[in-house]
Amino acid sequence: METKGMTRRDLFRFTTASGAAAAGGLNLGLGGPRAAAAADDTSTPDKALQALVNGNARFLAHNMTSFNEDQNLINNGIPESHEPFAAILSCGDARLSPEVVFDQVMGDLFILRVAGNIATPEMIASLEFAVVVLNVRLIMVLGHGSCAAVAATDRRTVVEKTQISVLYAPLRIAVETAGPGASFDAKAALNAKVQAALVQNSSRLIAERVGAATLRVVPAYYNLVPTPPGPPPGGAPNGRVDILPSYPLTPAAP
Ligand SMILES: [Zn+2]
Repeated sequence: METKGMTRRDLFRFTTASGAAAAGGLNLGLGGPRAAAAADDTSTPDKALQALVNGNARFLAHNMTSFNEDQNLINNGIPESHEPFAAILSCGDARLSPEVVFDQVMGDLFILRVAGNIATPEMIASLEFAVVVLNVRLIMVLGHGSCAAVAATDRRTVVEKTQISVLYAPLRIAVETAGPGASFDAKAALNAKVQAALVQNSSRLIAERVGAATLRVVPAYYNLVPTPPGPPPGGAPNGRVDILPSYPLTPAAP
């Protein structure tokens, strides 16, 4: 199949409309939940954020629809170009997969991952690429519960023969300012806010796009709550992504 120039959503619509989705026994009929999800409007920053919120709702409801669409892409070939609508700076924790928790398909998200979801210069440069070249409308900095990077920073854990402690400096802002008695999870949530503020304030390009309302930078927190084995796992709010308020590094002038 010729896919050149087609976005993955174009490809999905083409294949479902042509009946090719029946290949492999997949049920991808038009009018189903995935058809509705694929119609999510991501043309503005607010709509892009809403698309992620909608996807997380499907994840929480055990009503995910992206897997079939991914399979359809695999069956028919990956488009040569990609047009993600959002960039996500996530921790590397293996229990947190942004495509899964937001029920998004290959090509939807530009994902950067580093322990502690810290806004290093390399990460900021990569996010700038996503904005300028890929035209993402949303940048999300995604922290999570039970984050080992935050805990290790708080405990000043030393791991000999490694460079792990280089992660601690950018994480200390949240660890030190979360307040006495704050939990590791509270510190991880604050860290997402701090790193999002750094992304927005350390790049003139990103700050200008935010000022022009063509881009949003939002911190978010994934409620990762370890649960004992046995169905059904978890309980509220396990798995829910909370969109956090911004952390103002520069107070507004009086
Ligand atoms: Zn983590």
